[in-house]
Amino acid sequence: MTHTHPTPDLDQLKPAGTRRSGKREFIVNVFLRHEGHLSADDLVELIRREDSRISRATVYRALQWMEEAGIARKVDFGEGRFRFEHSYRHPRHFHLICKSCGRSFEFLSSDIEASIEEVASARAFTAHQSVVQIYGACEACRTGRTEAAEPVPSEVLFARDALRIAIATERSGLEFYSRAAAVSRNRRGRAVFERLAREEREHLEKLEARYQRLVAQDPQLESRPTFLFFKGAANGLFAAGAEDLARGLDDRKALMLAVRCERTSHRFFRRYAGQFEDTEGRRIFFEFANEEREHLEVLIRAYRALSGRRGRARASRRAPTRSRAQA
Ligand SMILES: [Zn+2]
Ligand SMILES: [Zn+2]
Repeated sequence: MTHTHPTPDLDQLKPAGTRRSGKREFIVNVFLRHEGHLSADDLVELIRREDSRISRATVYRALQWMEEAGIARKVDFGEGRFRFEHSYRHPRHFHLICKSCGRSFEFLSSDIEASIEEVASARAFTAHQSVVQIYGACEACRTGRTEAAEPVPSEVLFARDALRIAIATERSGLEFYSRAAAVSRNRRGRAVFERLAREEREHLEKLEARYQRLVAQDPQLESRPTFLFFKGAANGLFAAGAEDLARGLDDRKALMLAVRCERTSHRFFRRYAGQFEDTEGRRIFFEFANEEREHLEVLIRAYRALSGRRGRARASRRAPTRSRAQA
């Protein structure tokens, strides 16, 4: 499933200097200042508040131009008119739509996406766009509480949730390697696991510091609703691996298990990140995927060293070679 738009360079978006282009630039700026899902009429009203001379037709034309340029995305909430949301550097997402107040709330789910991909691929279908909309009543309308929280850009929530997921995965990796080091009966095996546990701890500290920096920009960020619902393949992967370790594995088997965990994690995050437009959340996933690949390389070298020492040149060499090719 891809929702990729051509990502425009905002500096190049300024059209050649006619008077009309000046108006267009003004309309684009007003649009980008407002989070959420605006109808064309909402935008006309916002524009007219600042400059009453701009015509409705000019706003409509500017919206159409923004859509073609990948700045605005058209969404249909079944109201008989379209709304427009930011597209540039805005992660793709699904919507919850309140039938009482008309507000909409954005979210993303790796599981819904995985299901859509599974269905499309089973039917040999190439998906260009997937729309998931859930209609109902929002919490404020249901409970009568009307604290009007100002909308937060989804990009920020995406970054927060991407960091939370990367942190949770690093934690389970740390747990896995600490346990592997504790049960290892082989000096070299233990040294590898200790090294990886150290690296996981360092990565974890870096990610946590980054999370704190993000939260420092918005004291309420932590309590804002979840944007990214994530139960992807990489989640809890190391936790399952750690359970296998508890049942007792020799060092080679433990290394193979670690290779499998890191490889799955690396591939999952790289592939997942690849689906997004350029956002902080995407960068977090890519950096995380690269760290997982580095771990994978350390593990494969260790596995080779261990196999070479024990089994000489036997068939055992085939396994790590294949591992590398697949990495
Ligand atoms: Zn509502
Ligand atoms: Zn939206």
